[in-house]
Amino acid sequence: MRERFAPSPTGDLHLGGAYVALAAFLRARATGGAFVVRMEDLDPPRVVPGAADRILDDLCWLGLGWDEGPRVGGPFAPYEQSRRQGRYDAAIAELAARGLVYPCTCTRAEIARAASAPHAGEEGPRYPGTCRDPARRREGRPAALRLRVPDEIIRFVDAIAGARAENVAETVGDFVLRRADGVASYQLAVVVDDLEMRIDEVVRGDDLLPSTARQVLLARLLGGEPPRWVHLPLVLGPDGERLAKRHQSRFRGSTVAELREAGVAAEEIVGVLAAALGVTDAPRPAAPDALIAAARERAPARTAPFHVPEAWVRPRASH
Ligand code: GLU
Ligand code: ZN
Repeated sequence: MRERFAPSPTGDLHLGGAYVALAAFLRARATGGAFVVRMEDLDPPRVVPGAADRILDDLCWLGLGWDEGPRVGGPFAPYEQSRRQGRYDAAIAELAARGLVYPCTCTRAEIARAASAPHAGEEGPRYPGTCRDPARRREGRPAALRLRVPDEIIRFVDAIAGARAENVAETVGDFVLRRADGVASYQLAVVVDDLEMRIDEVVRGDDLLPSTARQVLLARLLGGEPPRWVHLPLVLGPDGERLAKRHQSRFRGSTVAELREAGVAAEEIVGVLAAALGVTDAPRPAAPDALIAAARERAPARTAPFHVPEAWVRPRASH
């Protein structure tokens, strides 16, 4: 399988990232495929200077070398999304030529007010389609570009979550392909890249399960075959919530760098994550390469959330 790990350089590599990366690495190596790293640095205000390099260094330190990606290149270079904007614009132009794109000048507040039934999703209310009617667009405002989402049920099967069905027109509505500041949206960029890079299986955290129907839809509209999906339940912090950047301020030991500084060996981290992924029966220190044979017998996967081992995390003194 061609697998990818696609970190956003908005902070250091945390254990949840290492867990997903190990699963993708082992699934690629066990099947004679390729492990691709793609840096998702599209959103300039959120990118933290130096974070991309630290993530790549941490992956190397863990033994998760990649076949294609930053530093090593490959047939689909560049592997940094910030350098791929032309491809995203081309995909949007292709959709626009088929009448599937329209400009939208609504503000967040206007969308919230116009939505009859606010959708409970993290991403805010469903877009009610206001600007499908050109008369309702506001001149002189910067415009985002939205996809004219067909009213149809999108079906896909996730290797862990099972069969899913979603009518994107009902759940999120016409979603953004390019923001008003000209930056391609995450949904569009990820689909364009996964298709071009011939990714045939996507392993990632299940926080992205709600994006998947949109990505299946976009892949098909762009004439491609969506990948196989493997959404891993998230890694949870000591407070039982998903590992997130705010954990770094409240606990030590939620990032790979902090564990290294605390003297935890790379092979110990890999051993714990491999056991959590069911590749081994019990945590035993191991390099990723040494787990490939075991991953052929037992593909890395997990249906339950995984908690960061208590021995690794300590609340910071100041909290
Ligand atoms: N860049 C995204 C993240 O770090 C992952 C995107 C994906 O795997 O589709 O959350
Ligand atoms: Zn609008």
